Amino acid sequence: MDTHVLHKPQTGMRIAGLSIFFLGFLIFTSSLFVGQYQISKKTLTALSRQVPTERLVKLAPLQNRNYTSKVALLADIEKYINDDGQVQPYQLGEYKLAILKEANIGLLKENPGLFFLCSIVLAAIGALVFILAGLKMPAGIQHNHIFFNSAMSRGVLGISAAVYLIGFYVLLYWYPEYIVNLLILSDPVSDFIRNMPADRWFLYGTLYTFAVAVMGVRMFVKYRHNRYHLVRTGSVIFFQLGFAFLLPAIMERLNQPSMDLKNAWPLNYSFFMDWNLNSLTSSGGFGLFLLFWGIVLALIVVPAMTYFFGKRWYCSWVCGCGGLAETLGDPYRQLSNKSLSAWKIERWTIHSVLLFAVVMTVMQIANFLSDGNVFANYTWRVNQAYSFLIGSAFAGVVGTGFYPLMGNRVWCRFGCPLAAILGLVQKFKSRFVIVTNGGQCISCGNCSTYCEMGIDVRWYAQREQNIVRAACVGCGVCAAVCPRGVLRLENSDPAMRLNIVPDDECGL
Ligand code: SF4
Ligand code: SF4
Repeated sequence: MDTHVLHKPQTGMRIAGLSIFFLGFLIFTSSLFVGQYQISKKTLTALSRQVPTERLVKLAPLQNRNYTSKVALLADIEKYINDDGQVQPYQLGEYKLAILKEANIGLLKENPGLFFLCSIVLAAIGALVFILAGLKMPAGIQHNHIFFNSAMSRGVLGISAAVYLIGFYVLLYWYPEYIVNLLILSDPVSDFIRNMPADRWFLYGTLYTFAVAVMGVRMFVKYRHNRYHLVRTGSVIFFQLGFAFLLPAIMERLNQPSMDLKNAWPLNYSFFMDWNLNSLTSSGGFGLFLLFWGIVLALIVVPAMTYFFGKRWYCSWVCGCGGLAETLGDPYRQLSNKSLSAWKIERWTIHSVLLFAVVMTVMQIANFLSDGNVFANYTWRVNQAYSFLIGSAFAGVVGTGFYPLMGNRVWCRFGCPLAAILGLVQKFKSRFVIVTNGGQCISCGNCSTYCEMGIDVRWYAQREQNIVRAACVGCGVCAAVCPRGVLRLENSDPAMRLNIVPDDECGL
């Protein structure tokens, strides 16, 4: 048999998959502009639970006016509902979103389920068809001219993807009213799972879960020869779908406080905020269980598991951010900066964010225990600053939006405060190590190229030096792409981990 033919991707299948994907993507994006807006009596009644009556009555002059664009309606809402300038900006944003969603009329509002199928589901099917065509290719990473691929090497396609992603995050966090139509098309799914309309976090969770699942299939296809990656990818899909998406939705459906059970402090930076502590302590046994679990997870489970398995048990097997990075972000892993200066910056930024998170948490707890007497309003301001700078701008806009520009682990490497804690444990007290058998190394550099955390793995391999680095998330890709089997991820005796070769023996 001609092996060259076997190694060719099925071009027809790829083109078909890509076409279906782009059709779904096009419908998804253009659905933002479908429909008109009208505030009817029914709209105002439906809004009575989301907007205070004294604000709603101010919309009376807008009743039954037809708006062809949301921009015009938004301007009028602001003018009428906030005529006294007393509504806080965040609250005003929430009101605008609720009003726009209820006021939408037309094709999308009448057929949200159809739009959901023809956009998100269709794009997912197209992506899967494209991915499955890869079964004709050899497994693993080949010398496939990845740095000549515009989508994966900061070319026009890569930059366009970044602009789209960044734009989406900016709208999601700060101008959700402009993506209200996407909430409408998610309503049927939200209603089915949670028995309530979709909000922007449900929309985000849905897109996130689809992305992890579909691109997880890509990982299954790409690493079908490697058991570590098959199980690891299965794990991130399971935790995203089950723990991050379905379980919190079911808790909401049962009118219980909801929480992603694997989202540990300080990644879950709102855990110790007063509204969350008040909600948990006033929700009976289940709320107290969540409070207990959140504390045990952060103080006992996370350090203990990291001692035994290193950072990888969380960052590459459980975490939602890691799950997205390892699936949606995998095509961009080679873009991580491997320079020494990036390593220096990484250590400063990640530990600064950890310090910020710790200070904020001390203020939150002191404020909660003192009934708001200690730090008072300052706690709220620090919470706001952290939410804006770290929770939204860094983790979301930069962390994911910059995948096609800076690689898939920008947030995990430079910003995540939980990764900082895990890294300290991994570096100083853990059994995890990457063992190198440098005698076999041919210095091809595959390991360094594909290390998403910017670790120059080859440098260690050439010196036959085991790798114990705080940043390493144990993704195992360095070992999978090494053509000589030089690298092994192991859990060994902490005392035996370091085999640093003295300078004079390695010729330095
Ligand atoms: S050193 Fe290897 S296992 Fe660690 S992050 Fe880099 S590629 Fe993944
Ligand atoms: S360790 Fe393996 S992948 Fe890395 S440079 Fe050596 S031979 Fe290449």
